[in-house]
Amino acid sequence: MNTNDSGAPNNMRRPLLFSILISIVLLFMFNGIIVPMMAQRTVREITYTEFLSLLEQGKISKVNFETTRLVISQKDDPDGVFLTTGRLEDPNLLPRLEEAGVDVSSAIPKENSPLMSFLLGWILPFGVLFLFGYLLNRSMAKRMGSGVMSFGKNTSKIYAETTTGKTFQDVAGQDEAKESLTEIVDFLNHPDKYLEIGAKLPKGALLVGPPGTGKTLLARAVAGEAKVPFFSLSGSDFVELFVGMGASRVRDLFKQAEEKAPCIVFIDEIDAIGKSREGAYGVGGNDEREQTLNQLLSEMDGFDPSKGVVILAATNRPDVLDKALLRPGRFDRRIPVERPDLAGREAVLKVHARDVRMSAHVDLFAIARATPGAVGADLANIINEAALLAVRAGRRVVEQPDLAEAVETTLAGQEKKGKVLSPHEKRIVAYHETGHALVSACLPHAEKVHKVTIVPRTMGSLGYTMQVPEEDKSLHSKEEALAQITTLLAGRSAEEIVFQSITTGAANDIERATQLARAMVTQYGMSDTFDMVALETVTNPYLGGTPLRNHSETTAARVDEEVGRLIRTCHEQAREILHAHRDGLDAITAVLLEKESLDSEEFAALCDQYVTKQLRMEN
Ligand code: ADP
Ligand code: MG
Ligand code: ZN
Repeated sequence: MNTNDSGAPNNMRRPLLFSILISIVLLFMFNGIIVPMMAQRTVREITYTEFLSLLEQGKISKVNFETTRLVISQKDDPDGVFLTTGRLEDPNLLPRLEEAGVDVSSAIPKENSPLMSFLLGWILPFGVLFLFGYLLNRSMAKRMGSGVMSFGKNTSKIYAETTTGKTFQDVAGQDEAKESLTEIVDFLNHPDKYLEIGAKLPKGALLVGPPGTGKTLLARAVAGEAKVPFFSLSGSDFVELFVGMGASRVRDLFKQAEEKAPCIVFIDEIDAIGKSREGAYGVGGNDEREQTLNQLLSEMDGFDPSKGVVILAATNRPDVLDKALLRPGRFDRRIPVERPDLAGREAVLKVHARDVRMSAHVDLFAIARATPGAVGADLANIINEAALLAVRAGRRVVEQPDLAEAVETTLAGQEKKGKVLSPHEKRIVAYHETGHALVSACLPHAEKVHKVTIVPRTMGSLGYTMQVPEEDKSLHSKEEALAQITTLLAGRSAEEIVFQSITTGAANDIERATQLARAMVTQYGMSDTFDMVALETVTNPYLGGTPLRNHSETTAARVDEEVGRLIRTCHEQAREILHAHRDGLDAITAVLLEKESLDSEEFAALCDQYVTKQLRMEN
């Protein structure tokens, strides 16, 4: 990555270096060849005898005495060619010149002044060449879109945009993200309301999600909704050209933003500057990026949010971001922008279908169903591709076959790249997630299911069941801990029951279940075998955090046994529950496969329908 980063500055510096080199070469040619040539043309050397005979003939108008030579001007020489001859010790010369009426002088000729000849011969041409090179460079740089020699001063105009013209209506789906951003819009519209009460909004919000899900679009929509100017720069814009440029751009950006407040500052692809600094010091650490990041951090700390500058940033690599960026007072609010589910995809298609003339018979829902895993950008592309196909076919409106073909061409290859799950994989993931959710619904001590989804998430999981405790609790009972382990193991259990085979998809569940089971045995005193013996003590989690063992090797073996027993019991319980509710498992999975995500109400309704109350209470 470092070679890549430094590539740009080298390329940009080359023209400057090149023009300086050319200048120097030209300069030597000028002083070494052209000047002497010019001198030869205007000054011709003659012998003293020739000079005397010219004087005799009365052809000389003027003689200038220099220290070692005489410079002679002829009367009838229109070109003004000078003749020179050596200065001899001739006492008769002056009277003879006077007699012939020749003008005599001994002024030092201008071209012999060392200062003047230096200025004329070296500095002036160099200046001219440099100016020429500068102008050339500037016109080149203008064409390339950035000023090589502008040193970050007049790049200002690229970022400001008085109005984006986008609103939340242009962003389909992404309701949760929009909801979080509404508060920012409200703050920008009515800052007084917040200031009066003393409320401070977060300075920055970070939009996190896969490429093409509409992060940039959302940021622009926030500015459009709030009707404030939109300053935007991409992270990679900062890291280029000369060292120190990135930092000065950041300074510049914030200065301008403060002048234009209230406004939005948007830093796209912030990972380009915000990459973790750890390890950057080793081989070819990128100083430039670090300076830029430091400047950004200090600007964020320095400015006063009550002025109405809100900073938004976007990234699809939240895992590589420097921790310092995520600290309170910086990008402490994270807004996930995930891939759309079925309903979301249909909404995106509808938004983009507004711009294209569609046949009344097109079925966008069918297209949404055919494009699992597609992001907003893919869907916008599909609509456009379909319009192109319609034109090519000589149609005046887009028909269903155009859309179907556009899906094929746009999404071809994505399945292979693993971006989109195959139907079989999707079924496995759906059963797995329903397993978690269903078991948790059946266990009275388990946390409530908040959301079940099989839309792949940013952080690499294929599906996900989100649970929230019904009330905030700091104390957890043994029953709750057991219910949590059972729920964690239920995903894999569902796979076993339905497919009689297991996959690697449960690694994280297993890890978390094992951790909790081990903690129950060694820290919480929740096992029958050991009673309340602290087998492990946890050191301060901020100082390493590895548990300290307080027991012997033989005990260690028994601890492992006890943990294994807990896990087995919970696993068995999960399987039992799922066996008892096999019909419900199938029915809810079918709905999940169809809709791709279920919120808490939808899930609760399905449970009421398919899972009998009586069975639920037994467990
Ligand atoms: P990101 O910044 O997340 O990579 P963009 O905001 O640049 O994605 O999205 C690219 C394009 O895809 C947008 O200009 C828009 O046309 C389309 N798009 C993406 N998400 C949505 C959405 N939720 N609603 C409507 N259009 C979308
Ligand atoms: Mg973007
Ligand atoms: Zn799972």
